[in-house]
Amino acid sequence: MAKPSWQTIKQVVYERANGCCEYCSTAEINIGQTLHIEHIVLDTGDKLENLCLACPNCNVSKAAATTAVDPETNVTVQLFHPRHQSWADHFAWSEDFSEIFGLTPVGRATISRLKMNRPRIVLARQRWVQAGYHPVVQKS
Ligand SMILES: [Zn+2]
Repeated sequence: MAKPSWQTIKQVVYERANGCCEYCSTAEINIGQTLHIEHIVLDTGDKLENLCLACPNCNVSKAAATTAVDPETNVTVQLFHPRHQSWADHFAWSEDFSEIFGLTPVGRATISRLKMNRPRIVLARQRWVQAGYHPVVQKS
């Protein structure tokens, strides 16, 4: 069987993620920028189980990291792995859906490393909520 084209891989990753960052849930349609195909673990290939959809901020902030420090315990832990872990097990929205809370060391470390609650994105989320565009319902 022929190896799928990169275009096909991108389409599968995009549809699997419903067009949203698999870390912070930012929807491509809300930011008007192309989301990135992120290699969860660098240098392990383009297999679908190693790829996720990420917004530019999360992708650049994560870079090659696979671990980060949990700011609550100061312990270094693995970053959230979108293929092996469930978002809802590690993260939750604030009541107004503008901030993401870390429910676990993995969640807190990932929020910190990827800067998932930086002031500009929190303000943007507030505006998206007011407009009825956030949060985008994720596929399970
Ligand atoms: Zn993101």
